[in-house]
Amino acid sequence: MRVLVFDTKKYDRETLQAANRAHGAAHELVFIESNLNEQTAALADGFRAVSIFVNDDASAPVVERLARGGVRLLLLRSTGFNHVDLSAAARCGITVMRVANYSPYAVAEFAVALLLAVNRKIHRAYNRMREGNFLLDGLQGRDIHGKTVGVIGTGRIGAVFAQIMAGFGVTLLGYDVTSNPECVRLGMRYVALDELLAQSDVVSLHVPLLPSTYHIINAEALAKMKPGAILINTSRGALVDAEALIEALKSGRIGAVGLDVYEEEEGLFFRDRSDQIITDDVFARLMTFPNVLITGHQAFFTHEALTQIAETTIRNLNDFEAGRTNENVLHPH
Ligand code: NAD
Repeated sequence: MRVLVFDTKKYDRETLQAANRAHGAAHELVFIESNLNEQTAALADGFRAVSIFVNDDASAPVVERLARGGVRLLLLRSTGFNHVDLSAAARCGITVMRVANYSPYAVAEFAVALLLAVNRKIHRAYNRMREGNFLLDGLQGRDIHGKTVGVIGTGRIGAVFAQIMAGFGVTLLGYDVTSNPECVRLGMRYVALDELLAQSDVVSLHVPLLPSTYHIINAEALAKMKPGAILINTSRGALVDAEALIEALKSGRIGAVGLDVYEEEEGLFFRDRSDQIITDDVFARLMTFPNVLITGHQAFFTHEALTQIAETTIRNLNDFEAGRTNENVLHPH
């Protein structure tokens, strides 16, 4: 099948082409760097399938435009699907398939990396060493051992995060709509969100972005957090109200923050903007705090995860072409 692959980088091309070759090079993959949005949807005219990543726009008008051009399959190279209007896709006869299950270790390990970095101030130490400043003042952290770690969302990634944290010797609290037996086996205690926020020294977010989780960390939630607590978000930016977070940081209530995602990252991340002015004042303010470490949505970015994303994307394509369904087909709720 001919597939227009939006928002591609060199690593996407290499892994997708390798996966396509491994499956007999059955598909013609056309790679473009542009994001999918209302302006670029017409580029897919004549293609039966398009593939998109996390910051592409597959809202109703875009999906309708794709359908008019003949698209019948939308392949997401991600687990999250908050950027896709599934009802519009169903209405237009477009099948949506995602990569439901790629290395949860990639994201969970990155959440731990962010936690350790902001707790022990590795990001500041790195800069100091380069400038010949060998003072330790300001670099003091805390033992993770013996602390309470709250995991919001205990699915695939949250469970791996909990498993790694269990190795540090922590008390695990969980908040989810369903309990995960793997986490219960680790000794995790499921509690109400308020209790988790009040008791946790570390809070890590692993829920998907849904209407029910939008700004789950807002001003009220931040006010309930233990003073000095560390917040880690490797899931989706809009789980956190960034303006409320800035106020909580200014007041000194929050100890440190590690973010791999940001609500308005769409026009910002995955591009070299080093010679441009950042016009997003909220993002720019967040970047000024010494106790905030932000990375540009790279938690998924391991060799294993990329390989699995490409493999699954080609498998989804094969299944669709053969008229088979699989566990990656998304239906509107
Ligand atoms: P998952 O579906 O296995 O787990 C999500 C968990 O959240 C489930 O246990 C579910 O019950 C729970 N949940 C859903 N709605 C909830 C609610 N309203 N309140 C409480 N709990 C709720 O998903 P996963 O594979 O662990 O991925 C989690 C998220 O991580 C993805 O949705 C995606 O947004 C994010 N992610 C980020 C990156 C990155 O590179 N930063 C990469 C992959 C995934």
